[in-house]
Amino acid sequence: MFVRFGDLLEAWIVFGKMVDRDVFSWNVMVGGYAKSGFLDEALDLYHRMLWASVRPDVYTFPCVLRTCAGVLDLARGTEVHAHVIRFGLESEVDVLNALITMYAKCGDVSSARKVFDGMVRKDLISWNAMMAGYFENDECLQGLELFLTMRNLSVMPDLMTTTSVISASEVLGCSRLGKQIHGYVIRMELVLDVSVCNSLVQMYFCFGNIEEAEMVFLHMASRDVVTWTTMISGYEKNGWPEQALEMYEKLKSADVVADEVTIASSLSACASLGRLDIGMELHDLARNNELLSYTSVGNSLIDMYSKGGRLDKALEVFKRMSDKDVISWSSLISGFRTNHRSFEALNFFRQMQTYLKPNAVTFIAVLSACTEIGALMCGKEIHAQTLRKGLWSQGYLPNALLDMYVKCGRTDYAQVQFNLHEEKDLASWNIMLNGYARRGHGDFAIMLFHRMEEQEVHPDEVTFISLLLACSRSGMVSDGQMYFNLMTQKYSVKPNVKHYACMVDLLGRAGHLEEAHQLIKEMPINPDAAVWGALLNGCRIHREVKLGELAARYIFELDSKSVGYYVLLCNLYANDDRWNDVARVRNLMRERRLVMDPGCSWVEVKGTVHAFLSADKSHPQIRQIHAVLDGLFERMKLMGLDMPDNCFIDEIEASKAEIFCGHSEKLAIVFGLINTTPGAPIWVTKNLYMCGSCHNTVKFMSKIVRREITVRDAEQFHHFKDGKCSCGDEGYWGRYRE
Ligand SMILES: [Zn+2]
Ligand SMILES: [Zn+2]
Repeated sequence: MFVRFGDLLEAWIVFGKMVDRDVFSWNVMVGGYAKSGFLDEALDLYHRMLWASVRPDVYTFPCVLRTCAGVLDLARGTEVHAHVIRFGLESEVDVLNALITMYAKCGDVSSARKVFDGMVRKDLISWNAMMAGYFENDECLQGLELFLTMRNLSVMPDLMTTTSVISASEVLGCSRLGKQIHGYVIRMELVLDVSVCNSLVQMYFCFGNIEEAEMVFLHMASRDVVTWTTMISGYEKNGWPEQALEMYEKLKSADVVADEVTIASSLSACASLGRLDIGMELHDLARNNELLSYTSVGNSLIDMYSKGGRLDKALEVFKRMSDKDVISWSSLISGFRTNHRSFEALNFFRQMQTYLKPNAVTFIAVLSACTEIGALMCGKEIHAQTLRKGLWSQGYLPNALLDMYVKCGRTDYAQVQFNLHEEKDLASWNIMLNGYARRGHGDFAIMLFHRMEEQEVHPDEVTFISLLLACSRSGMVSDGQMYFNLMTQKYSVKPNVKHYACMVDLLGRAGHLEEAHQLIKEMPINPDAAVWGALLNGCRIHREVKLGELAARYIFELDSKSVGYYVLLCNLYANDDRWNDVARVRNLMRERRLVMDPGCSWVEVKGTVHAFLSADKSHPQIRQIHAVLDGLFERMKLMGLDMPDNCFIDEIEASKAEIFCGHSEKLAIVFGLINTTPGAPIWVTKNLYMCGSCHNTVKFMSKIVRREITVRDAEQFHHFKDGKCSCGDEGYWGRYRE
């Protein structure tokens, strides 16, 4: 009696005082310990019972066997099996059923089956136990075979059987079987049972058959919180987040109390839709219902806040979580990455490693952060880690590595990684192609495309975007036009706005501005801001103010929030000396409360990334850096070159260069020069465009310090060597006044 109340101590005292302990009192004690979770103690007690020469009975064994299954102790379970035989209970159905479950739970399905086959009399529990054993050990086919045998022997399945068979057909991905079972459920009138219907809903969502899932849901006689949650997460996982949130609203009006799974699934839907409002409501709900301690809830909150651009909130949730798992850390890291705070993402990754082992998802997020700020050493270190952990070929990881090498400008490493990548998919080819495009290697891009054709890899829309971009950056106008036609004619890829933007860019850069404008007018789909933006950029390069202004008007009708277009327009005016117009656009930006990203450059020295903001005074080596820079300017002046700080015509242009460039790369480069061995190449990544003045300075630096300096700016790679740049002095500023 005491045991039932869970008061083991009390029970133990009573039990200890008992003079005549019979098998019943032993059973009560063993069962009590087992039920309270003291599994080892329960088994210990069972052994004492045997020493006390008490004969175990039909009630003792099921309990002891359940306990063995609970601690997954196959050896002791087998020993107990021997006891069953010794005490002559091998024909008791309840005992044998418990044996089947014990073997199955301990992973020994064949022994379970031997017991099952040896049974003279089986009941429904025996069948269910054996089937569940197969399903739990991923032997779904054998389980279903058994189900068919059972049906042939006219044994009537019950709710347990049905639910487990439904989940098995879900695991097997066998929709035909699923449908048959559904039919059976209807015939047997099991539709009245909530849990059977819940598993049907779950199964249909798993098959991606949303209509059927909805049908089952609509016809359910009663619904519980699992039903609603299954609907929400089903919609969410099938990429229907709007419907998931609608379902959440319905749950609210049905007065169902959401549990942690409901909240986590609804939060994922909010994350994909960027619905911060509902997300915050769910956050409050989780707090009020004391569900914040669930790691899954915390993780979904981090993801939702990061995707909604509220990193502060994400960090707050993260800091308050008591049980952070690898998903929590990975979500936070990828949150920092997507909000363009990659430098901090790397710091969190470093912190994480003192607590937890990163997994493939973490590595993908960190690699993407390395890619953004050009942290090659860090990326290589991660590559080495994935090799050590045997993860390097997992999922998207090989492509993430490839992308990192490509975007860090290391085409040679990328080539090796590409050739080693055994399961190259279309994404791998596209990444390589994109790499050639960004480095302006149109010829390599075309060669790679031919290789794709040879190996019968079918190109998609992304392939052609990269290919067209490559042609555009290399000034290969006729090739670009040829591939634009080829994509529809040969590969039946319908051009979308991005392809048109590439084509306008291709024509615009080459100076065929009227042709580019004509192409926009003839587009079968509506042009977006990016298409007009490409035209504006062409006009900027070739100083076509009138057409550029027209493009800008269309752009601001479609998108008045992207700072980049205002900058382009400013540049267009500035190149034509129309400073009043520059001032007008800048006022407009101020009125619309648009702020430029502060200029930032990153340089990696001995595996550590250093970040430099424009006019950074906080860096410990800043005085040394400025001393070196002043020395360089002095030498430039002596050689008759323009002093970079005086080369602007007036203040407006100086401030123009300030906002477009920020000049932070000069600080980063000098820091690199001071802290690396002579002759070592220097790689710098910056978030804005490189201005003409900086470009001149760096060209000069590369000559007098005899170093190869590479700067990746928002647009392209500049590879400086011996006073020359790979871009042929046609950077973002166009033909800069020399
Ligand atoms: Zn600059
Ligand atoms: Zn350049």
